[in-house]
Parts: sequence; C-alpha cells; structure tokens
Amino acid sequence: MTELLCHTDSYLKKFTAKVVSVNAETRSLFLDRTAFYPGGGGQLCDTGILKIDCIDYPVTRVKKTPDGIAHEIGEGRDLPSVGSEVTGEIDWDRRYKLMRTHTAMHILCGVVFRDYGAQVTGGDMEPLSGRMDFEFENLSKDLVGVIEEAVNKEVAAARDVRVKVLPREEAFQIPDLIRTKINLLPPGIPEVRTIEIVGLDLQADGGTHVANTREVGRMRITDYKSKGKINKRIYVELDDQVTEAAGS
Ligand SMILES: [Zn+2]
Repeated sequence: MTELLCHTDSYLKKFTAKVVSVNAETRSLFLDRTAFYPGGGGQLCDTGILKIDCIDYPVTRVKKTPDGIAHEIGEGRDLPSVGSEVTGEIDWDRRYKLMRTHTAMHILCGVVFRDYGAQVTGGDMEPLSGRMDFEFENLSKDLVGVIEEAVNKEVAAARDVRVKVLPREEAFQIPDLIRTKINLLPPGIPEVRTIEIVGLDLQADGGTHVANTREVGRMRITDYKSKGKINKRIYVELDDQVTEAAGS
C-alpha cells in the first residue's frame, strides 16, 4: 500500500520515495509513498512529475487501485526499475486551485445547512469552479445572492480548517458526521478522516484543503438550476488570485 502524504500535509509539493512496483501494461508506477492526490470525493487527481535517474516522467493521471496508488506516466520513455529512488513534484498551481475550490465547497455546504437546513446530495469540481446539488426546495435568485454573501463572510472570517484522522467508533459518535452520511462508509475502514472548518462545518472527507478559509478568496455563485422539485444545483467560481478585500 502507498502512504498518502497529502492526507496529513496538503501543502507538501515535493517528496522523495521508492518505486515498489511497475505495471508495464498501464504504464503505472507504484511508490512506497506519495504526495499526489489520487482523486475522489469530487476532487480531481493531481498531475506533475516524477524524477528518476535524471529522467522526468510526466504524471498524467493518478488513481487508487487494489495494489496501491497508480501514477500513470506518458508514452515514450523506458519504465524505471523497481527500487529506483524517486523525487516527485506535483503541479502546485493546479492543486492549490483545487484545494481552494474544495474548501469553498465545504463553506457553501456549511452555510446552506446552517442557514436553511438543506443537505448536499452531490458535487463536482474543476480548478476554480464547481457545482453542488442540494435538497433545497425554495431556492430563488434573491436567496442565491444572500448565500453568496454569507459564504464570503465566512471566507473573510478567516476560520481555521483542521484535518483529523479518528478511529471509526469515535467518528460515529459525532452528530455532525452522521448527518453527512458517514454511515455510507464501507464497514472495513478502521479510521475516518475529517475536515473541520472550525465553527462552521465538519465532514468525513478524503480531499486536500487550504488551512484557513481566507485562502479561498472571493466566491461567486454564477448560476443555479432546478434538477427536480426538491433538488437544486448551484454553480460557483473563484477568483484566480486571492485579494485582501474578499468578503468585505
Ligand atoms: Zn469534500
């Protein structure tokens, strides 16, 4: 199994590791540890580079497999041998945008649940944009404006974002986690990783997040759509750069 370094340090951009196995058919490398996020929970996988014996292998895709985390490398280079030393570097610009976007989505979930009691049913993200689906019967254009303002207020409130890994039994005692359908987790998982936006939101989550809501910057709700009588989809975008004026 691959040790997932980004689970405990989402700001780790560069790391060293060893090649533990190679799959020639899928052109995948398996390492003993990695900072590459393998995708999941609506967050895309990382891309970047693995340097092995002075050769740069571009990482085009990363995914979880039963054998560990597969780093797919492009065509055209000979595969390295098992035991090789690796220096990995993730595409930080892209990843940081995904971190900001992911935390923005949790702020949105937290605000919509706190103020309207509406539950999230799904979501998806790209760097700096995303969509979330809610069970939210009475959503209107005016209300969307109010929600946007409330989200930016939470950004400006500079709330800390904390990552914890809890024993399963302990996690199942927390009412906030039960609300976010923690009980859907497979029974074999002994630990639950949680993301807490202090004072606003707590979720079981595998993704990478910024350490403070102020890093998200200004969020805009660009559109919303009805996906049935109850279900509504909200579309959001973030600014490319974080400005100090966010939320003010
Ligand atoms: Zn999430």
